[in-house]
Amino acid sequence: MRLANVAGRLVSQEGADLVDVATASDGRFGPDPHDVLEHWSAFRAWAALRPPAGAAPPTPAGAGPPVPRPVQVFGIGLNYADHAGESGMALPSRPMVFPKFASCVTGPELLVLPSQTVDWEVELVVVIGRTARHVAATDAWSYVAGLTIGQDISDREVQFAGGASSQFGLGKSLPGFGPTGPWLVTPDELSDPDDLEIGCSLNGSQVQHSRTRHLIFTVPALIAHLSQHLPLRPGDLIFTGTPAGVGFGRDPAVYLRPGDELVSTIEGLGSLVTRVAPDLRSGS
Ligand code: ZN
Repeated sequence: MRLANVAGRLVSQEGADLVDVATASDGRFGPDPHDVLEHWSAFRAWAALRPPAGAAPPTPAGAGPPVPRPVQVFGIGLNYADHAGESGMALPSRPMVFPKFASCVTGPELLVLPSQTVDWEVELVVVIGRTARHVAATDAWSYVAGLTIGQDISDREVQFAGGASSQFGLGKSLPGFGPTGPWLVTPDELSDPDDLEIGCSLNGSQVQHSRTRHLIFTVPALIAHLSQHLPLRPGDLIFTGTPAGVGFGRDPAVYLRPGDELVSTIEGLGSLVTRVAPDLRSGS
């Protein structure tokens, strides 16, 4: 199943069509995208009788975040060895967890830069589909509603102010710093949800490229770890970490500029386009 949030209403892809879930279900599910996450198994049972999704379509006009109001948004730092290397940091012995405050979550929307030290991080994002507590890694995929694309946008000056790891939550949670979407794709649509090509381009040049099989802590390992400490709830998001190729690891460092276009792509999940707002002061 491939779902999107279009103008605040949940739509499902059926063949080449986008179907309004509330209308198609006679009001049983939706229209709020969160409604189905609260009734995920019943929704899946209903959806199983509907026509299947076809080939991956382009981003629907008016798409917003697939999960607009998550309660908890987790970020995982240094979860690809090549990114830990470019960051000059040791590999973590357990998942490095930080919050992305939920107010930063957006869809494929315009990003307004708050400073000149804003960086990109393409990431696979997990959407939780049912309450998970003390879950074993072998069962963890059954707690996942689906996957989407995310950008863990980061203001490096804010993030690293006052010490190497002290401000991750703040520096990665400024307004618009959590672009997600455009699709929520259920794992059964993917040939191998543990090994997806992931990449991102800046103004048409590829800057990041890897595969999710290189995650140090896999999706099941992250769900097992987090759920040992606290309950994960329907609609919670896990940004699983970024591969090498971010801007601050370059020499000289590269940061987002007004008018840039960032395209984040994950195999089977489509592409998430993030346009950076032009600098209105300079008129560029
Ligand atoms: Zn990240």
